[in-house]
Amino acid sequence: SLHRMPPPPNKLKLDGIDRIIAVSSAKGGVGKSTSAVNIALGLSSEGKSVGILDADIFGPSIPLMMDLKGQRPYTNENNLMIPLINYGIKCMSMGFLVEDEDALVWRGPMVMGALEKLLKQVDWGHLDYLVIDLPPGTGDAILTICQRVPLSGAVIISTPQDVALLDAVRGVKMFGQVGVPIIGIVENMSHFDCPHCHEKSFIFGADGAKNTAKKMGINYLGDVPIQLEIRETSDSGKPITVTKPESSSSLIYKQISKQI
Ligand code: ADP
Repeated sequence: SLHRMPPPPNKLKLDGIDRIIAVSSAKGGVGKSTSAVNIALGLSSEGKSVGILDADIFGPSIPLMMDLKGQRPYTNENNLMIPLINYGIKCMSMGFLVEDEDALVWRGPMVMGALEKLLKQVDWGHLDYLVIDLPPGTGDAILTICQRVPLSGAVIISTPQDVALLDAVRGVKMFGQVGVPIIGIVENMSHFDCPHCHEKSFIFGADGAKNTAKKMGINYLGDVPIQLEIRETSDSGKPITVTKPESSSSLIYKQISKQI
């Protein structure tokens, strides 16, 4: 009848993966990938089997952050790609398959085709968690991913800054529309602890994400400071949760992982 809703796209069937968690941010550069990596490592340190799927086709950063840059996955006898493993985490990224420049001219359907390949044509084995590092924003490709992939929930990364927060709110609404539960918001770059005078500076404003989470009735998962160590470890492929597991920031990431 005229009143019938269009059927939702079929969900992919991913046997062997217990929970699929999307890590999302409404804009780029807020620390989504850094958070995804350290949350995945936090889960792994709890004894869970964990994979990371880098769905950020246009700017894949998982190869660099997981110290796997330049590597190529092997294919097994069933023609499935074997994820590359580092720090105990199975990783798959478009960055392992194509040169960066090739992906830039892709259109929506090609992006989804590529993502399906990364999800389905990979021998993930059994995973307690698959963490998906989504592309930033709320565009068509992301919407399709959220409709096609059986996501258990989404974690939203935001800075305390107003613009980033407004965008984060848009992200929250999108997940609501596609029926994906929001696990919570992480406030990244929440403040700077001056190593000299030990005073806290709220560079992007104070408590923005915390207040937004409260207003929207969403779980607040924690705040991660802006820290030289996080930047250095992340960009050199030696994540802080691996290299400095007892540092205060690593403990925050682990606390966040426990809520997922
Ligand atoms: P996104 O995935 O949102 O684009 P990234 O995780 O790539 O963001 O982070 C962008 C840059 O900011 C990277 O150089 C990363 O090392 C740095 N960064 C992310 N989070 C922090 C933080 N809490 N403190 C310092 N640097 C950070």
